[in-house]
Amino acid sequence: MMRRFLVPVIASYLFSACGEGPATEKTPTADSTTTEAFQWEAEQFADIRILRYQVPGWEQLSLQQKKLCYYLNMAGLAGRDILYDQNYKYNLRIRRALERIIKDYKGERTGADWDAFVLYAKQVFFSNGIHHHYSNDKHLPAFGQSYFEQLLSGSGVQLAPEVLTAMFDPTIDAKKVSLDADKDLVLASAVNFYGDDISEKEVDAFYAARVDKKATEPLSYGINSKLVRGPDGQLMEQVYKVGGLYGTALEESVKWLEKAIGVAETPEQRTALELLVKYYRTGDLKAWDDFNVAWVKDTKSTVDYILGFVEVYNDPLGKRGSYESIVEVNDPEATRNMSVIMENAQWFEDNSPLLPEHKKKNVVGITYRFINTVGEAGDAAPSTPIGVNLPNADWIRAAHGSKSVSLGNITDAYDNSSGTSTLEVFCHDPQEIELAKQHGALAGKLHTALHEVVGHASGQLEPGVGEPDATLKSYASTLEEGRADLVALYYLLDPKLVELGVMPSLEVGKAEYDSYIRNGLLVQLRRLKEGKNIEEAHMRNRQWVSAWAYEKGRADSVIVKVVRDGHTFYDIRDYEALRGLFGDLLREVQRIKSQGDGAAGKALVETYGVKVDPAIHKEVLERAAAIKTAPYAGFIQPVMIPVEDAKGEITDVRIEYPTDFVKQMLHYGEKHSFLPDVN
Ligand code: ZN
Repeated sequence: MMRRFLVPVIASYLFSACGEGPATEKTPTADSTTTEAFQWEAEQFADIRILRYQVPGWEQLSLQQKKLCYYLNMAGLAGRDILYDQNYKYNLRIRRALERIIKDYKGERTGADWDAFVLYAKQVFFSNGIHHHYSNDKHLPAFGQSYFEQLLSGSGVQLAPEVLTAMFDPTIDAKKVSLDADKDLVLASAVNFYGDDISEKEVDAFYAARVDKKATEPLSYGINSKLVRGPDGQLMEQVYKVGGLYGTALEESVKWLEKAIGVAETPEQRTALELLVKYYRTGDLKAWDDFNVAWVKDTKSTVDYILGFVEVYNDPLGKRGSYESIVEVNDPEATRNMSVIMENAQWFEDNSPLLPEHKKKNVVGITYRFINTVGEAGDAAPSTPIGVNLPNADWIRAAHGSKSVSLGNITDAYDNSSGTSTLEVFCHDPQEIELAKQHGALAGKLHTALHEVVGHASGQLEPGVGEPDATLKSYASTLEEGRADLVALYYLLDPKLVELGVMPSLEVGKAEYDSYIRNGLLVQLRRLKEGKNIEEAHMRNRQWVSAWAYEKGRADSVIVKVVRDGHTFYDIRDYEALRGLFGDLLREVQRIKSQGDGAAGKALVETYGVKVDPAIHKEVLERAAAIKTAPYAGFIQPVMIPVEDAKGEITDVRIEYPTDFVKQMLHYGEKHSFLPDVN
């Protein structure tokens, strides 16, 4: 699981800018003539920036390819409501009430309360529900319940008392996903994957009785269902399928997928899409695997997609997939530049610091592409990953390979919209700033590529270990992401990359080391509220990698902590030694995964990745207050508009780039909403 590279997450990319902003101040992009006039940033509110992106090369696509993009995107949008419901049981009802108020409220639409209401609505739209998309904390309205009830009645809407309580009582369902090891993870998480009274133990027992530990092709149990208590008191799965849970949305999605099948580019692509339809219709887990195998084999198409219940970050037990959709178009030129990494995958595996028995003898079928995103929905929007590596099932990856993509136009949008640099605030010295400005952007791109292509694809399990996620449990995601980061870090200082011509010198790797440590030990703490520990998997992995390396290299002054005028900095004094430490940790994390050593995995994460020093945290929050750029970003999606002739035949598909975030959210609520109010 967790093959994706989220933007805030991406160690390198954003961090190469000393944190959350893209690497350098305005990295020049290839076609700056078209990008110059484009308005990259639409607005900023709370801790969020709303950005826009372009789709270069759209006009060069054939009509058939444009239609395919359009149909796939419509199929993706059809399931948008699903994610809201998965995230929290009252999300759909709350979102619909917010939409109605914005559209219909006849009373006073100014003043502090109204502004607070609009802010809350934007936050809910951005996070696909009432919990923060990243911290998982519930958004607390800055207006009172009585004011909200006035808005409701002034708009002709009603919400049940328990829904209002859920919105306004800070103690109810406070956390979407809880990874607090002292609690029952299922009961402590508000996410709507399990019935209200179901405990972690019951879930474990339910699947222990079903999972065949000896299966060589283990099914993804739980990936497409909600686990509830049936009328007889026994647990049962409500499967997401046509005619089942979320059936109306999936039916609409199938309608568009069938149109897509009609314009598929290759037989492989057609087969994969047909299997996806079969899976949506039946909910059959075998069909899901068949689809993924077929999807991996579809490598020649220009248009590709990620669709379905895919990533399991939102389930504290890492079983259930959140709905998402990404439609993408291959960028052959950018792909060519990075393809050398893919071609040398076996060299990277052979020369890695892993124990010999944990190295793959034959690294199969990694397909790496730079793509441009055309449209995203569900868990991929408005906040988007910038790199994705799928499928998630280890046995499919081992037997059939995987596909990795870097979302090039999203990355460009980040580069072009970069605001005030955080470099001045957190870098130790001017050389560090200079290095970041010079090499940060490339370092970020290389980190993404190495993380996805070499990192997630490397290593093998010992015989009989099965799916390691089952033993590593809630630590599986952070261990996997940390493992992939460590692979990237290890090779970023390898002369091989210079030899391969993907970077001019090892200075690029040094820039990446600086940014990774700076972020892991300092900058990322700005995302965390005072008094909190780290729960989010990627934040954890960036801290445990950095903190472990800092501690292990302390005696040799590999990384030195410097306090100047009450401000803390970390300065790397020996890059080569740090590379050695990254290699040591990589070997150990691979051992943990390969042997399914849950106890060691837990100890590593809990010791280095969870707790924060309250004094440093407070200091970082104070220093970060000077930075004007919000730490998270997401996107307004382009709109594809079919042009029809008199007979209703599509003759072209135009693309437009809207500018108004709330307007797009309201449009989606009106035109792409296919679930009834549940609960
Ligand atoms: Zn990853």
